[in-house]
Amino acid sequence: MISLEKLLISTQNPGKLREMKALLSDLNIPILGLTDVFGDNVPEVKETGNSYEVNAKLKAKTIGQLTQMSTLADDSGLEVYALDNFPGIKSARWHAGSDAERNQALLKKLRGVDDRRARYVASVCIYYPKKDSFLCADGVLEGEIALSPTEKIIGGFGYDSIFIPEGYDRPLAELGDDVKLKISHRTKAINSLKLKIKS
Ligand code: IMP
Repeated sequence: MISLEKLLISTQNPGKLREMKALLSDLNIPILGLTDVFGDNVPEVKETGNSYEVNAKLKAKTIGQLTQMSTLADDSGLEVYALDNFPGIKSARWHAGSDAERNQALLKKLRGVDDRRARYVASVCIYYPKKDSFLCADGVLEGEIALSPTEKIIGGFGYDSIFIPEGYDRPLAELGDDVKLKISHRTKAINSLKLKIKS
Protein backbone atom coordinates (compact mmCIF):
# COMPACT_ATOMS: atom_id res chain seq x y z
CA MET A 1 0.00 0.00 0.00
CA ILE A 2 1.46 3.34 -1.07
CA SER A 3 0.48 6.38 0.97
CA LEU A 4 -0.42 9.42 -1.08
CA GLU A 5 -1.26 12.78 0.51
CA LYS A 6 -2.08 14.55 -2.73
CA LEU A 7 -1.57 14.00 -6.41
CA LEU A 8 -0.68 16.36 -9.24
CA ILE A 9 -1.99 15.49 -12.71
CA SER A 10 0.48 16.39 -15.45
CA THR A 11 -1.74 17.07 -18.45
CA GLN A 12 -2.44 20.12 -20.57
CA ASN A 13 -5.73 18.59 -21.76
CA PRO A 14 -8.68 19.88 -19.66
CA GLY A 15 -10.80 16.90 -20.77
CA LYS A 16 -8.21 14.44 -19.45
CA LEU A 17 -7.93 16.38 -16.17
CA ARG A 18 -11.71 16.21 -15.75
CA GLU A 19 -11.71 12.45 -16.46
CA MET A 20 -8.78 11.77 -14.10
CA LYS A 21 -10.31 13.78 -11.26
CA ALA A 22 -13.54 11.79 -11.54
CA LEU A 23 -11.66 8.46 -11.73
CA LEU A 24 -9.43 9.24 -8.76
CA SER A 25 -12.09 10.79 -6.49
CA ASP A 26 -12.32 7.61 -4.39
CA LEU A 27 -8.70 8.06 -3.27
CA ASN A 28 -10.09 10.90 -1.11
CA ILE A 29 -7.00 13.07 -1.52
CA PRO A 30 -6.64 16.50 -3.16
CA ILE A 31 -6.12 16.11 -6.93
CA LEU A 32 -4.38 19.13 -8.45
CA GLY A 33 -3.99 20.27 -12.05
CA LEU A 34 -0.92 21.98 -13.51
CA THR A 35 -2.52 25.44 -13.39
CA ASP A 36 -3.20 24.99 -9.64
CA VAL A 37 0.58 24.78 -9.16
CA PHE A 38 2.07 26.81 -12.03
CA GLY A 39 -0.71 29.33 -12.79
CA ASP A 40 -0.24 30.70 -16.31
CA ASN A 41 3.36 29.43 -16.58
CA VAL A 42 2.84 25.72 -17.06
CA PRO A 43 6.10 24.17 -18.33
CA GLU A 44 5.90 22.30 -21.60
CA VAL A 45 7.18 18.72 -21.62
CA LYS A 46 8.15 17.41 -25.05
CA GLU A 47 6.96 13.86 -25.81
CA THR A 48 10.19 12.48 -27.19
CA GLY A 49 9.76 8.83 -26.15
CA ASN A 50 9.10 5.90 -28.47
CA SER A 51 6.30 4.33 -26.40
CA TYR A 52 3.25 5.47 -24.44
CA GLU A 53 4.87 4.38 -21.17
CA VAL A 54 8.13 6.21 -21.83
CA ASN A 55 6.21 9.41 -22.64
CA ALA A 56 3.97 9.04 -19.57
CA LYS A 57 7.07 8.58 -17.39
CA LEU A 58 8.72 11.61 -18.99
CA LYS A 59 5.71 13.84 -18.29
CA ALA A 60 5.30 12.55 -14.72
CA LYS A 61 8.99 12.71 -13.77
CA THR A 62 9.72 16.15 -15.25
CA ILE A 63 6.83 17.73 -13.38
CA GLY A 64 7.34 15.60 -10.24
CA GLN A 65 10.98 16.67 -9.96
CA LEU A 66 10.10 20.34 -10.49
CA THR A 67 7.36 20.31 -7.83
CA GLN A 68 8.56 17.51 -5.53
CA MET A 69 4.95 16.27 -5.61
CA SER A 70 3.70 12.79 -6.51
CA THR A 71 2.68 13.29 -10.14
CA LEU A 72 0.50 11.26 -12.50
CA ALA A 73 0.71 11.51 -16.28
CA ASP A 74 -0.72 9.55 -19.15
CA ASP A 75 0.13 9.07 -22.77
CA SER A 76 -2.40 7.61 -25.13
CA GLY A 77 -3.24 7.15 -28.76
CA LEU A 78 -5.40 5.57 -31.42
CA GLU A 79 -4.13 2.47 -33.25
CA VAL A 80 -5.75 1.33 -36.51
CA TYR A 81 -5.08 -2.35 -37.19
CA ALA A 82 -5.16 -2.13 -40.99
CA LEU A 83 -2.61 0.73 -40.86
CA ASP A 84 -0.06 -1.20 -38.75
CA ASN A 85 -1.23 0.56 -35.58
CA PHE A 86 -0.88 4.04 -37.08
CA PRO A 87 -1.13 6.84 -35.80
CA GLY A 88 -0.16 5.39 -32.38
CA ILE A 89 2.06 7.60 -30.23
CA LYS A 90 1.88 10.28 -32.94
CA SER A 91 -1.95 10.48 -32.67
CA ALA A 92 -1.96 14.14 -31.64
CA ARG A 93 0.71 15.26 -34.11
CA TRP A 94 0.83 13.18 -37.33
CA HIS A 95 -1.30 15.63 -39.34
CA ALA A 96 -1.35 19.41 -38.87
CA GLY A 97 -4.71 21.14 -38.52
CA SER A 98 -7.87 20.70 -36.51
CA ASP A 99 -9.29 17.51 -35.01
CA ALA A 100 -11.86 17.44 -37.82
CA GLU A 101 -9.12 17.73 -40.46
CA ARG A 102 -7.11 14.92 -38.81
CA ASN A 103 -10.22 12.73 -38.80
CA GLN A 104 -10.80 13.39 -42.50
CA ALA A 105 -7.16 12.57 -43.27
CA LEU A 106 -7.44 9.28 -41.36
CA LEU A 107 -10.74 8.40 -43.09
CA LYS A 108 -9.02 9.06 -46.42
CA LYS A 109 -6.28 6.55 -45.55
CA LEU A 110 -9.03 4.01 -44.79
CA ARG A 111 -11.03 4.61 -47.97
CA GLY A 112 -11.91 1.22 -49.46
CA VAL A 113 -10.50 -0.66 -46.45
CA ASP A 114 -12.94 -3.22 -45.03
CA ASP A 115 -11.07 -3.99 -41.82
CA ARG A 116 -11.87 -0.91 -39.72
CA ARG A 117 -10.82 -2.34 -36.36
CA ALA A 118 -8.95 0.05 -34.08
CA ARG A 119 -8.17 0.56 -30.44
CA TYR A 120 -7.36 3.30 -27.98
CA VAL A 121 -4.34 2.57 -25.79
CA ALA A 122 -3.31 4.43 -22.63
CA SER A 123 -0.37 4.19 -20.24
CA VAL A 124 -0.60 6.00 -16.91
CA CYS A 125 2.32 6.43 -14.54
CA ILE A 126 2.77 8.01 -11.12
CA TYR A 127 6.22 9.34 -10.28
CA TYR A 128 7.18 9.46 -6.60
CA PRO A 129 9.97 12.07 -6.21
CA LYS A 130 10.90 10.97 -2.67
CA LYS A 131 11.71 7.46 -3.90
CA ASP A 132 12.61 8.39 -7.49
CA SER A 133 10.31 5.55 -8.58
CA PHE A 134 7.28 4.91 -10.81
CA LEU A 135 4.08 2.93 -10.70
CA CYS A 136 2.54 2.36 -14.17
CA ALA A 137 -0.47 0.61 -15.72
CA ASP A 138 -2.03 0.24 -19.18
CA GLY A 139 -5.56 0.15 -20.57
CA VAL A 140 -7.10 -0.63 -23.96
CA LEU A 141 -10.49 0.09 -25.53
CA GLU A 142 -11.24 -1.93 -28.66
CA GLY A 143 -13.52 -0.61 -31.39
CA GLU A 144 -13.70 0.39 -35.03
CA ILE A 145 -13.44 3.47 -37.22
CA ALA A 146 -16.76 4.80 -38.57
CA LEU A 147 -17.23 5.42 -42.29
CA SER A 148 -17.84 9.12 -41.61
CA PRO A 149 -17.52 11.38 -38.56
CA THR A 150 -20.40 12.34 -36.34
CA GLU A 151 -20.89 16.10 -36.13
CA LYS A 152 -20.31 16.12 -32.40
CA ILE A 153 -16.71 17.02 -31.49
CA ILE A 154 -15.36 16.70 -27.95
CA GLY A 155 -12.50 19.18 -27.40
CA GLY A 156 -9.15 17.42 -26.97
CA PHE A 157 -10.70 14.06 -27.88
CA GLY A 158 -11.11 14.53 -31.64
CA TYR A 159 -11.03 10.85 -32.61
CA ASP A 160 -14.11 10.21 -30.45
CA SER A 161 -16.10 11.53 -33.44
CA ILE A 162 -15.01 8.54 -35.56
CA PHE A 163 -14.28 5.82 -32.97
CA ILE A 164 -17.11 3.35 -32.30
CA PRO A 165 -16.36 1.28 -29.18
CA GLU A 166 -16.94 -2.48 -29.31
CA GLY A 167 -20.52 -3.30 -28.29
CA TYR A 168 -21.91 0.10 -29.39
CA ASP A 169 -23.29 1.36 -32.69
CA ARG A 170 -22.35 5.03 -32.44
CA PRO A 171 -19.09 6.97 -32.04
CA LEU A 172 -17.88 7.66 -28.51
CA ALA A 173 -18.61 11.39 -28.91
CA GLU A 174 -22.33 10.51 -29.10
CA LEU A 175 -22.34 8.22 -26.07
CA GLY A 176 -21.80 10.82 -23.35
CA ASP A 177 -19.35 11.25 -20.46
CA ASP A 178 -20.88 8.52 -18.28
CA VAL A 179 -20.33 5.79 -20.88
CA LYS A 180 -16.83 7.03 -21.66
CA LEU A 181 -15.88 7.09 -17.98
CA LYS A 182 -17.11 3.52 -17.62
CA ILE A 183 -15.34 1.94 -20.62
CA SER A 184 -12.38 4.08 -21.69
CA HIS A 185 -8.75 3.02 -22.04
CA ARG A 186 -7.77 5.61 -19.41
CA THR A 187 -10.42 4.30 -17.01
CA LYS A 188 -9.02 0.78 -17.34
CA ALA A 189 -5.45 2.02 -16.87
CA ILE A 190 -6.34 4.16 -13.84
CA ASN A 191 -8.38 1.36 -12.24
CA SER A 192 -5.48 -1.02 -12.64
CA LEU A 193 -3.10 1.62 -11.23
CA LYS A 194 -5.39 2.15 -8.21
CA LEU A 195 -5.27 -1.59 -7.48
CA LYS A 196 -1.46 -1.39 -7.53
CA ILE A 197 -1.50 1.65 -5.20
CA LYS A 198 -3.76 -0.19 -2.74
CA SER A 199 -1.92 -3.52 -2.82
P1 IMP B 1 -1.42 12.80 -25.50
O1 IMP B 1 -2.15 13.95 -24.91
O2 IMP B 1 -0.04 13.03 -25.88
O3 IMP B 1 -1.61 11.54 -24.70
O4 IMP B 1 -2.08 12.59 -26.91
C1 IMP B 1 -2.96 11.61 -27.09
C2 IMP B 1 -3.67 11.84 -28.38
O5 IMP B 1 -4.30 10.60 -28.65
C3 IMP B 1 -4.76 12.88 -28.26
O6 IMP B 1 -4.39 14.13 -28.70
C4 IMP B 1 -5.80 12.29 -29.18
O7 IMP B 1 -5.44 12.61 -30.49
C5 IMP B 1 -5.63 10.79 -28.98
N1 IMP B 1 -6.46 10.31 -27.88
C6 IMP B 1 -6.07 9.76 -26.71
N2 IMP B 1 -7.11 9.42 -25.95
C7 IMP B 1 -8.20 9.79 -26.65
C8 IMP B 1 -9.59 9.70 -26.38
O8 IMP B 1 -10.05 9.25 -25.32
N3 IMP B 1 -10.39 10.18 -27.34
C9 IMP B 1 -9.94 10.70 -28.53
N4 IMP B 1 -8.65 10.82 -28.81
C10 IMP B 1 -7.79 10.34 -27.89
